Amino acid sequence: MIEKILDNLKNASEYECYQIEDRIYTNKELYKFICNLYEYLISKQEKNVIVVGHKEIYMIASFIACSCAGKTYIPIDKYTPVKRKEKIIKQIESSILIDESIESIMTKSEFKEISQIFIKDEDVYYIIFTSGSTGEPKGVKIMYKNVKSCTSWLQKICNIEKGVILNQANYSFDLSVADIYLSLLTKSKQFVLERNVQRDYKKLFAELKESNANLAVLTPSFAELLLLDNSFNSKLMPCLNRILFCGEILSKNTVKKLKERFNNIEIINSYGPTECTFAVTSNIVNENEDISIGVPKENVDIYIVNEKLESVLENETGEILICGASVGAGYTNNVLGGYTTYNGERAYLTGDLGYYKEGKLYYIGRKDKQIKYKGYRVELLEIENILDEMDIVEKSFVTVSKSEDRKVKKIIAFVICRNESVNTKQIKEHLKETLPEYMIPVIRIIDSFPINENGKIDENKLLENKV
Ligand code: AMP
Repeated sequence: MIEKILDNLKNASEYECYQIEDRIYTNKELYKFICNLYEYLISKQEKNVIVVGHKEIYMIASFIACSCAGKTYIPIDKYTPVKRKEKIIKQIESSILIDESIESIMTKSEFKEISQIFIKDEDVYYIIFTSGSTGEPKGVKIMYKNVKSCTSWLQKICNIEKGVILNQANYSFDLSVADIYLSLLTKSKQFVLERNVQRDYKKLFAELKESNANLAVLTPSFAELLLLDNSFNSKLMPCLNRILFCGEILSKNTVKKLKERFNNIEIINSYGPTECTFAVTSNIVNENEDISIGVPKENVDIYIVNEKLESVLENETGEILICGASVGAGYTNNVLGGYTTYNGERAYLTGDLGYYKEGKLYYIGRKDKQIKYKGYRVELLEIENILDEMDIVEKSFVTVSKSEDRKVKKIIAFVICRNESVNTKQIKEHLKETLPEYMIPVIRIIDSFPINENGKIDENKLLENKV
């Protein structure tokens, strides 16, 4: 994979490979940046490279340079709260840090060619941090062979060559793996939507128009946001012929609207956790049938199992268990999580519930307190843990309210405080020091938790405001 990427960047005739707002980079420029960073990295002893930034070109150049130099990269979005960044960095042994100050090294005009590619199949290629139920973010370690398997499959299902790929996700989320590697491997341009653009509808729509994208890699939440504006259609994006979805439940309604607004658009629903390298199933969907997450990718087997890890019958619901080429190397800090073995093979037990019907997989929901909110993965227990660690909080319970189509509308934290003078603003301010914006819940201060017949906190009563 890395050889092919370098060959495209170095030897193909000049093409545009990256665009962030008005700044366009060519393959030759990116190649130079990678060579310069490679030279810098091979002079370092450390194995791990923490790359802090947003969507600047040095992020991409660093990722590829790390791989060439046989190092592991750990992307952290620069907008992550400081305390969370610290929690992440603490989990990474012997690391160097790259941030925007690397640009002077990266852009040197005299550069040496890459002499040798050091990354091996079993090496940890990247570590991506995701929400952890203990209150600490969990670092998912993905190997080079996992990424190779993922990207060769993606090239087949997305069938793009010398096109334009629209990027939504930050590089600290594994949805971006598709954008980064598909564009580099197929000589396509990655057209990125950076944070300020995504927050300004006018700018966002101007960028969508400018992009001429053929393929967009999106979460359903983001597509739903775009669909709120009627001008999100073929007129705005005449070249868009495929959307690759991943990360959340894709509703029939969203598919229907997209089909109405875009002529002949192909909609792919893919499914998978970060622990299994972006995605492990896919399916071309249409609005007239129940939305399936599809069939397993090549070299992956998926079983639906009961609590004893025995396969259940077709149409029966159980937990989704993933085996094969996409299963990552584990977590940082020796956390075991869902990684396990199944029939002697390495496997990952997802916590997701689903069933097989006529050979296709259908997703039902989670068996724990992990949710998706605005496309982001959130462990409600992480929020609860951080609340409970606060001096002013006696006890908290975090839950969600949902809309009819099973989408999370709000994250709500019910909090019992240690004294009456505490207000919701104080609690929120404290949370903001550690949690990213999308994880900040609505706070409701209460006196006591209602208890149900099983002696557990009565979530329904809380949500019905009966406290
Ligand atoms: P992440 O690690 O952020 O990719 O989140 C993985 C989780 O997102 C999975 O375990 C599922 O719960 C959920 N998920 C991913 N893809 C889909 C999909 N296509 N449909 C429904 N849920 C999904």
